[in-house]
Amino acid sequence: MDLNLNAEEKQFRDELRAWLSANVPKDWAEWREKPLEESFPYLRAWQRKLHEGRWAAVSWPKEYGGRAAPLMEQIIFDEEYSRARAPVLTGYSALLLLGPTLMYWGTDEQKKRYLPKILTADETWCQGYSEPGSGSDLASLQTRAVEEGDYFVVNGQKVWTSAAQHADWIFLLVRTDPDAPKHKGISYLLVDMHSPGITVRPLVQITGARGFNEVFFEDVRVPKKNLVGEKNQGWQVAITTLMFERSGGGGDRGVAGQIRELAALARRLPRGGATAWDDSAVRQKIAEFQCEAVALRYTGYRQLTRRLKGLPPGPEGSMMKLCATELNLRVQTFAMELLGPYSQFEYRAPFALDKGRWSYRMLGARGPTIYAGTNQIQHNIIGERVLGLPKG
Ligand SMILES: Cc1cc2nc3c(=O)[nH]c(=O)nc-3n(C[C@H](O)[C@H](O)[C@H](O)COP(=O)(O)OP(=O)(O)OC[C@H]3O[C@@H](n4cnc5c(N)ncnc54)[C@H](O)[C@@H]3O)c2cc1C
Repeated sequence: MDLNLNAEEKQFRDELRAWLSANVPKDWAEWREKPLEESFPYLRAWQRKLHEGRWAAVSWPKEYGGRAAPLMEQIIFDEEYSRARAPVLTGYSALLLLGPTLMYWGTDEQKKRYLPKILTADETWCQGYSEPGSGSDLASLQTRAVEEGDYFVVNGQKVWTSAAQHADWIFLLVRTDPDAPKHKGISYLLVDMHSPGITVRPLVQITGARGFNEVFFEDVRVPKKNLVGEKNQGWQVAITTLMFERSGGGGDRGVAGQIRELAALARRLPRGGATAWDDSAVRQKIAEFQCEAVALRYTGYRQLTRRLKGLPPGPEGSMMKLCATELNLRVQTFAMELLGPYSQFEYRAPFALDKGRWSYRMLGARGPTIYAGTNQIQHNIIGERVLGLPKG
């Protein structure tokens, strides 16, 4: 592909850069690693501001509040957003997953009702897929919905539901035909989290944060007009959402920024009368990480080339997900080695270097190897679809 930007793309990049440099909040570094329960209102306000600048969903069609930006501009947006170290988007799952899914499968009424409030984060969403017995094998899910007049009545349990305690709505997979083959009896519902019969129980992670939850449904009544796609066709709708989830994010998934911070840390850490950076073994290791991050960025461009040629997303998505999350894990583990005894300080402990941010990140680095299809599942995909290995 041609990596040079054309005049229009340059103009888009410059306008965005100027907006981000004027508007990214200066205190974001302070808020960045706070638990979501503290930072949620801050992040909601940020998304509103982003929308006011018409930057919240650049690739969405203009009629739905986007800029109808072509793929290349979306990529420029992702790169610039990450370069500016702008706040994470609290409405991420709705902006990137549910919104595009609704544009494809939703009724006009559903689009009109839900899309504007997704953009402004006036309503936030969570993703109700995983259950205690159904994660990688998602289609085995057991949460039931039974028709009763104009309603579906839902009973069952979801788990690992990120940000459910803050969400106004959930996009939910339910079984509507228990006798059909497992992929064929599933439906996709939009459910108001304030409905009677829903209980949300936060789960405490190893970092101490409460990022995700168990969600229980007991005789929850959901209007039939909240069904997306046809009844029992929810698997196709769910796959559309998953495709948006896996193809999201730049090639290096933000690891390059972490490597820059690691280099800055090494320059500050005293070691034997000099700094850790003066040790060539340390510089070598950080250079290795950087080479891998650059390779990932270019793998991202290969995926982009395919998409610009109108081809479906290739196996690069699985490769990037696998390699970026494992690189991130190694970067965080190396930071622990560099910090030595200081790595034992918890997040925000007095005397901790960088406020204990590195140990918090190290503990959080396993999560991305699990969500959006575990890394073992990505190994299977690469083995079968790229290397052509036989199924085990
Ligand atoms: C930080 C985080 C946020 C999440 N947020 C959400 C959310 O908002 N909504 C939601 O619905 N879910 C969410 N999840 C759940 C996530 O989608 C599941 O954890 C994931 O799909 C794996 O399912 P599981 O936990 O049931 O593990 P299992 O599927 O039971 O897997 C257990 C182990 O077996 C391995 N394994 C399973 N099948 C195979 C196979 N065929 N071949 C090789 N190995 C295999 C897995 O790789 C894993 O190591 C989140 C998870 C995390 C970590």
